[in-house]
Amino acid sequence: MHPAIPHLLELQRADQRIAALRSQLQSLPIRIREADAKLSGARQELASAKQAHTNSLTERKKLELDVEQWKERARKYRDQGAAIKTNEAFKALQHEIANAEAEVARAEDRLLEQMMAGEEIDRRIRTAEALLKDAERTVAEDHRLIEAEQAARQKELEGALAEREAALAPVPEDLRELYSRIAKRHRGIVLAEARKEQCLACGMRVLPHIYQELRRESNHEVFHCETCGRILYFVEAASVNTPAAGKGASAAADSSA
Ligand SMILES: [Zn+2]
Repeated sequence: MHPAIPHLLELQRADQRIAALRSQLQSLPIRIREADAKLSGARQELASAKQAHTNSLTERKKLELDVEQWKERARKYRDQGAAIKTNEAFKALQHEIANAEAEVARAEDRLLEQMMAGEEIDRRIRTAEALLKDAERTVAEDHRLIEAEQAARQKELEGALAEREAALAPVPEDLRELYSRIAKRHRGIVLAEARKEQCLACGMRVLPHIYQELRRESNHEVFHCETCGRILYFVEAASVNTPAAGKGASAAADSSA
C-alpha cells in the first residue's frame, strides 16, 4: 500500500464529515424561516381581528348617528303638529312621525346587533392575542434549539477541519492535487477498496496483475480503477475491522449504490 493512502482515507473521512456538517449548517436558516412562519399566521389573525374591531366601531358610530337623526326628525314632525290646520295634513304628519319612529327602532335594533358583534370581535382579539403569545413562546424555543444546534455543528465542523489538516499534512503535493481532482469528479469519494479483483466503488473488475500489486505489502505505487479512476487500496481481511479501513471501505462501497 502506498504510505499516503491511510492519510488519504482519513482525509476523505474528514471531508465527508465536513460536507455533511456544512449542509446541516446551511439547512438551519431555512428552519428558522419555517419557525418564523408560525408567527406570521398568528400575527395576521390578530391584525385582521383588530381591523374588524375598527370597522365595527365605525359602523356603530354610523348607526348611533342614524338613531339620533331619526329621533330628531320625529321630534320636528311632532313640533309641527300645533300648526296643522287640516285633518288631511294631520294624517300625513302622523304618518311621517310613525315612519321616523319605525326608523329609530330599526336603527336601534341594528345598533344592538352591532354591539353584540363587537363583543364577539373583542373575544376574537383576546383569543388571537393568546395564540400569538403561544406562538411567540414556541418560536423563541425553536430559535433557541436551532441556535444551540448551530453552535454544536459549528464546533464539530472546526474539529473536522482540524482533522482534515492533520490528515493532509503528511500527503505529498502531487497526491493532494490528484485527491482534489478525483474528489471533484466523484463527489468526495476518491478512494475505493479493491476486493476479490473488483473495485467496490464502481463494481468493475480490477485487472489481476494490478490486484496482485495492490495486495503486495511492499507496493508503493498508486493504482487507479480503470473504469471510475478512483485510487484503489487493498485491505487484508483480518484488518477490515480496524476503524480506518472499515469506514473507508464502507464509504467507498456506498458511492457505488
Ligand atoms: Zn472503480
